[in-house]
Amino acid sequence: MHQYDYLIAGAGLYGAVMAHELNKRGKKCLVIDRRDHIAGNIYCEDIEGIHVHKYGAHIFHTSNKKVWEYMNQFAEFNNYINSPIAVYKEELYNLPFNMNTFSKMWGIRTPQEAKEMIAKQVAQTNITDPQNLEEQALSLAGRDVYEKLIKGYTEKQWGRDCKDLPAFIIKRLPFRYTYDNNYFNDRYQGIPVGGYTAVVEKMLEGMEVRTGTDFFEFREENPDIAETIIFTGMIDEYFGYKLGALEYRSVRFETEVLDCDNYQGNAVVNYTEREVPYTRIIEHKHFEFGKQEKTVISREYSSEWKVGMDPYYPVNDEKNNSLFEQYKELAAGEQNVIFGGRLGDYKYYDMDKVVEAALNRLEEI
Ligand code: UDP
Repeated sequence: MHQYDYLIAGAGLYGAVMAHELNKRGKKCLVIDRRDHIAGNIYCEDIEGIHVHKYGAHIFHTSNKKVWEYMNQFAEFNNYINSPIAVYKEELYNLPFNMNTFSKMWGIRTPQEAKEMIAKQVAQTNITDPQNLEEQALSLAGRDVYEKLIKGYTEKQWGRDCKDLPAFIIKRLPFRYTYDNNYFNDRYQGIPVGGYTAVVEKMLEGMEVRTGTDFFEFREENPDIAETIIFTGMIDEYFGYKLGALEYRSVRFETEVLDCDNYQGNAVVNYTEREVPYTRIIEHKHFEFGKQEKTVISREYSSEWKVGMDPYYPVNDEKNNSLFEQYKELAAGEQNVIFGGRLGDYKYYDMDKVVEAALNRLEEI
């Protein structure tokens, strides 16, 4: 006899949605997490009355109405629209790539002028069938945008040459010939009022949760505690890296409390030149239109992941994807264990895709 129906390893968004839904269906769940808090990488820490996105900025956006309504059960969302600024040397641009960006870059005004400029630059590249991120970016935006706004940022973020990165990464970003600085094309967007930790708390309400609990140690001590395991950690770690380690990017944050009420005038400012060592500075209060006297900023430094660090981004190039497929085969042979989430599925998921994947998985089980 098992004490629980489900042991859920990882109290992040995927684990929390699974736990919430299974609990609702009368299943007995135990949720554990290695960290000393719930909410995984969407965890926010309260500093000076500001929700600080401790593991990087998270902006909820989706076009999936079902997912949007699902999330709205747990919080009301504010009307924050992400409109990052890019700093390149002494120049300042709006993101994503839109008429404001092009106008600033070339002193032009109309979509026609922008199209002509970009078409001219794209023609010079002679790329017809983009095979990697560099070719994709050049054939979409031309040389100027690529050199000033993409190349340096991307190489810092991924620690790899743009020629060695998959094109899909850049396809995440909108590219438009209107004066629209909304970073996302999605129908719904916002930050949960009360913060992300409260959302996960609500999802896990009434359930047994043990933080500071390492799955591997816990399972060794309690091998038969649950009928089924839902594992949301790194799939390669689950199998003791026996086929080799998958690559991840990690992020280090330098967070500072500043004695001013508004440091950079925007939540997200990207530093796109290679020479500035961080990729972006987040000023957390602006996600919630904060009126506090002080402000909190985080500089983001990207690095290659090594054992013992927090993994953030899977590196979904061909080599890693094919290694992941081999781990997936091992996973399929693992009795009563379900893998999921950004780390379990080794996919560069946004939050809405995590929720969608969890809801789909629930239908299957
Ligand atoms: N990117 C870029 N310049 C920027 C911002 C993003 O070239 O100023 C590229 C970069 O390759 C990055 C990708 O777009 O990895 C996706 O950016 P996004 O902001 O969606 O990444 P996330 O917020 O998930 O880190």
